Amino acid sequence: MPCTSCGSVNQDKFIGEMDLHRPGLKNIHEPIAWVFPELVVCLDCGTAKFVVPEAELRLLAKGGATAYGPGKRLELANQTKEQTGAA
Ligand SMILES: [Zn+2]
Repeated sequence: MPCTSCGSVNQDKFIGEMDLHRPGLKNIHEPIAWVFPELVVCLDCGTAKFVVPEAELRLLAKGGATAYGPGKRLELANQTKEQTGAA
């Protein structure tokens, strides 16, 4: 699929590591959600697209994640497996 921003087909896939949090000083004490999504990056204009994994998406939708950093992500992953029955 061509880039939705510039129409280029010069795109490639990458694996990202990022923490998601709400902007603004009023949210500075809210927990963050670490995600490691697969990104499709347009190599002409820099537009990037990714999908937030379902477990992290649910946490963000609830108003905050329980994970504070990469070490806590394992707890989140294990908690999610227990909840979903995933292997
Ligand atoms: Zn583009």
